[in-house]
Amino acid sequence: MGSATMANSVGTIDRSMVEQIVRQVALEYLGRTRKGNVPELVVQASSRHMHVCREDMDILFGPGAELTFDRDLYQEGNFAAKETVTIVGPRGRIISNLRILGPMRKESQVELAFTDGIMLGFSDLPVRLSGDIANTPGAVIIGPKGVVELKRGVIRAAIHVHMSPADAAYYGVTEKDRMKLRVGGPAGLTFNNVHVRIGANYRLNVHMDTDEANACGLHLTKDVELSK
Ligand SMILES: [Zn+2]
Repeated sequence: MGSATMANSVGTIDRSMVEQIVRQVALEYLGRTRKGNVPELVVQASSRHMHVCREDMDILFGPGAELTFDRDLYQEGNFAAKETVTIVGPRGRIISNLRILGPMRKESQVELAFTDGIMLGFSDLPVRLSGDIANTPGAVIIGPKGVVELKRGVIRAAIHVHMSPADAAYYGVTEKDRMKLRVGGPAGLTFNNVHVRIGANYRLNVHMDTDEANACGLHLTKDVELSK
């Protein structure tokens, strides 16, 4: 009986119905097109790394040494340098091949994932936005030409999203707001404290650390969504 009804419906389809279906499809298509205007979001895991100041660069790599460009990062003007250092934690444990990211900064800073911190003997690394390093632990940094004792600047970088003023307007957020990032896929989860960082030249881009990326299976999915 069901199939008879279906056959009937198919049999009675007329021109006005066809037009209606075409309109619906067109509307859905427009809907998708609008969705397609959502700014393209790139979510990336940042591996442990260091930013150096001029003074520390001089000590670690020799007076006047410059960073050697290795590859561009997604944010304009930022790059991975060829230079690496060794970091010594509070109990003498070390991580070598710690990559330096350029350009140079006003103050040196080391960004580690939680497990990197554990490995080095930092039991509770403060979660901070880049640059916010008051009251953070220090470490000894060894370069090819010298050794620096950082008094502070070792942090676990807080998950954050870079965006342009136009993206901020699109989402209705302002600097220092927090957003949600939903990551789909088999290990998916939602991050509830994604710090908003707005800059004129920023490209829409979430940075999380390697622990966070592993926890949500970031490499397993392209299904990511940012919301207020
Ligand atoms: Zn970032």
